[in-house]
Parts: sequence; structure tokens; C-alpha cells
Amino acid sequence: MTIIVYIFAFPRTEKCSCSKGEKGACEKCQKNCFFLLKNRARCYIIYMYKYIVCTLACEEDLLEQIYTIPVNEAFDAALVSDTPVCPFCSLFKKLEEDELDIILGASMMEPDIRQKTNDQGFCLDHFKKMLIRRRRLGMGLILESHLAEVKKKLSPTARDLVGGVGTSALAELLALEEDCYVCSRIEKNLSAMTATAVYLYQSDPKFTEKFKGQKMFCLVHFRAMADYAKKKLQKKLFREFYECAFGILDGYLTTLTADVSWFCKKFDYRYDEEPWYNSKDSIERAICFLSGDDGTVEQKKGTNE
Ligand SMILES: [Zn+2]
Ligand SMILES: [Zn+2]
Repeated sequence: MTIIVYIFAFPRTEKCSCSKGEKGACEKCQKNCFFLLKNRARCYIIYMYKYIVCTLACEEDLLEQIYTIPVNEAFDAALVSDTPVCPFCSLFKKLEEDELDIILGASMMEPDIRQKTNDQGFCLDHFKKMLIRRRRLGMGLILESHLAEVKKKLSPTARDLVGGVGTSALAELLALEEDCYVCSRIEKNLSAMTATAVYLYQSDPKFTEKFKGQKMFCLVHFRAMADYAKKKLQKKLFREFYECAFGILDGYLTTLTADVSWFCKKFDYRYDEEPWYNSKDSIERAICFLSGDDGTVEQKKGTNE
């Protein structure tokens, strides 16, 4: 039925459902669309294909525009920071703070959000971070309806008749274990921000300069960014992008490795009189670099406590 509607609707409307499109495809899509239709009336299937490509490309374009400001701000802040900071870790931290504030504040009583938190639940890390905020009534209300949902998930369903007793409940529990409302929201937004950074690298010379001046990327976010860029950028541009990003990562890794080595040496009595240089917090920095932590690893500088 849907296909029939598409077939009859497209040749007449010729609309792109993007932010820019009034009639026909927008400029971006005309550039990106493989089937650039000069002869529009030729084939319904091509119309459908064109519509899908156009819609997807424009949605991506819109997301890139939304995240341009925060991405630029994070890269600006990392550029002038005294200590090396991964701009994506800063974005992660900001997204997490916002999500936790929202979930325990304005959005707490919104039925559609509550439905999602009931269904997805939270990981231990985010339960702990919510507890620190000391909004115990808010947490109580969220947990009350979440527990009711968990109880419902544990009830036997028709699936158990085929798979045996507990089949449905065990599948639901596994899905619940792997899910978290806050994690999924951060993941979605951070992915779009990563895409935005790659897009800006290729389209905004000012941002490219900013990118080249970064002091570090953590391993986790370097991988995510390079992975996305590999799929999106042309081969030659990706090579340039990768070499630039890897150069930043490698430079930081070299310094960090030397700092950790010096930290270890300082526990040898022969180095007692030597200064610590920049090694006191090297253990915490190494953990942040390896894990994509936001820098909140507790720091006990210069000791083996
Ligand atoms: Zn990072
Ligand atoms: Zn989580």
C-alpha cells in the first residue's frame, strides 16, 4: 500500500523533505544524488530512490547544522586549554551532565520520556551519577514505574510456549542489562557530533585549522571519528584527515608514555632527588586516554596511595 502511494505521489509533488527544499531536490542532494534527474519523468523507481537519498542526506545535513556550534566550542576550548583535552570527551561530559539534569528535572514527568526510562532503565554508572545529584524523590518516581515495567517483562508470554519456561523473561533481562536511557541518548548525540566534526573538517577551513591545532584525542573517540571519516570522505581526503588526527594522537601517546615511565622510575631510590616533571598525574591521564573517560578519574598526584 505504501509503495503504491509513493508511486503516485512522487512525480506530482517533486518535493525534497529537507530544511532547504521547496521544490525539487536541494543543492546538497543534487550534488550527492547518484541519480541526478534531468529527465524527471522517466522512471518511478528512480524517483523513489532519489527521494530516499535526498531525505537521508538532508536529515544528515540538518543534524550537522544543529551540532556545529557545540562542536566548534569544544574544539575552541581544547585548543586553548593548558592541559591536553580530547574535545569529544568534553562533549561527552557536557551531554551526560545535560541528560542527567533533564531526566531528574523537566523531563521527569513527561509521559514519552518516562515510557523510555521504564523500558530501557539505566546502567550502574548512571544510577550512581543520578544518586549524587540528591534528587531522591525524582529517582523514586522513576524507579517506581521502572520496577513495575520490569515486573511486567518477567511475566510469561506466548514465546515461552515455544521456547520453554523463562525464554521471554531471560531475553528481556539480557536486553535490559545492555541498555541505558542516558547512555543511548549520549551515544546518539555524540555520533552526530562526530559526524559534524568530520563534515566541518572537509567544508570549513577555519575548523580544519582548529582541528590541526588539537593537543590530543583519546583512543575511543579517535577510533569513532576515523571510522566515520573512512566511510564518508573520499580516499585522498581521508588519508589527509587520518594522518592529521593520527599525528595528534601519536604525539600525545609518546609524551604520555614517557610521563608514565618517569612516574615508575620515581619509585626507585636512585631517582629520589630528581623532580617529578609532568608525571604526577600520568596514571590518571593514561586511563583517560585509553578509555575515553571524561577526566574525572580521581587524582592522587605523585603518590602510590
Ligand atoms: Zn575522547
Ligand atoms: Zn548509562
